[in-house]
Amino acid sequence: MRDASSADGFTRRDLLGAMGAAGGMMLVQHAVAQEKNPAAQVADSASSIRITGMKTHRVQHKVYLEMLTNQKITGWGEVSALVPTAAEELSKSLFELLDGENPTRIEHLWQKLYRAHRDMRGGPFMCHTLAGIDMALWDITGKLWGVPVHRLLGGPCRDKIRVYPTSKAHKVPPHGIYPHSGNPNEIERMVNAIKQTRERVGPDGTVMFDAHCAVPPATLIQLAAAVKPYDVLFFEEVAVPGNIEVFKRLKAQISIPMATGERDHTIWEFIPYLHEGCIDILQPDVAHCGGITQMKKIAVLAEAYHVPLAPHCTTSPLGATASLSVAASIPFLLIHETAPGSLQWGEQFMNRPWTVDDKTSYATLPEGPGLGVQIDIEKLKQIAADPKYKWAWPRLTLPDGSVTDY
Ligand SMILES: [Mg+2]
Repeated sequence: MRDASSADGFTRRDLLGAMGAAGGMMLVQHAVAQEKNPAAQVADSASSIRITGMKTHRVQHKVYLEMLTNQKITGWGEVSALVPTAAEELSKSLFELLDGENPTRIEHLWQKLYRAHRDMRGGPFMCHTLAGIDMALWDITGKLWGVPVHRLLGGPCRDKIRVYPTSKAHKVPPHGIYPHSGNPNEIERMVNAIKQTRERVGPDGTVMFDAHCAVPPATLIQLAAAVKPYDVLFFEEVAVPGNIEVFKRLKAQISIPMATGERDHTIWEFIPYLHEGCIDILQPDVAHCGGITQMKKIAVLAEAYHVPLAPHCTTSPLGATASLSVAASIPFLLIHETAPGSLQWGEQFMNRPWTVDDKTSYATLPEGPGLGVQIDIEKLKQIAADPKYKWAWPRLTLPDGSVTDY
């Protein structure tokens, strides 16, 4: 019986038969093309990869997370600035929510962990631990795709990243804790440090000042007036976070740009600074704010307000690479912190996939795949076993015995 559609007398069966021979050839060609098509391979491996385990390595004041998968790809994350024993236990507990999941669903897994328990979301223990897990997920995904993490974040917005400290860019610490006095000798101590740093870096160099929440707001206002001739790029951590009105008051009285953010977590703690217009530069720490996923979002919020980032970063090379990966991929970046002591400590058991040119203050973009950091487990164990460092609670007091911020 003739097919009603075949007016030229050619049946559908004839057509399918003819297509069979040609189609077979096309399928072979397609299969060969697919073999060479990285996108097809990525789709396949990304859909079948699963988290199969997570080892925790407590190394002195840090916890390193080693996330295992069914595809021989391992991701690493750094949990920082917590009681390390508590951070290790929380990491192990959170693994219950990760076991068997696809590690490339990073946003989904971030939400799954962050929103898992309504009463635990948002605090430093949850956010710092989640940051380490988030780093490991991005590391796995970058390794799976064979690209540095900044390529997954939209690609680099710059060829190199301005960093400090270098011989041309230096941040002056508060040099101590300050009672609420504003006495001239205390102001002078900070003024002299800023003046000497300006002389050292020269007129083409960068001077910053970190109040570290150790200088009372009233003293800071006096200090700001006294250091005007030295062109300070920003005053950092002018107050302990918690009351936006304090930042608004300082912004109204200090003409030097103000920066803050290292103690803040997630987009929800950063947005009031932008909304109130009382901070000029945001300083999220990738290991504190909730990881690469949150830091990128914080940068997007800041971009909408034309506020650049100057990321806080005191992590070892692993965390610093996570932060630099975000810094590479955002449009508004002022300068990025590095902590030479933490980098050198970490380099005892890991590599650092970027370098700094001290003369120009620029770091190279991190080289992947993933975060590009390999951990030497044997060396890590040696450092972990070294008894010379034991974590202890800081206990800072003023001369009268009262507790102080630092
Ligand atoms: Mg600071």
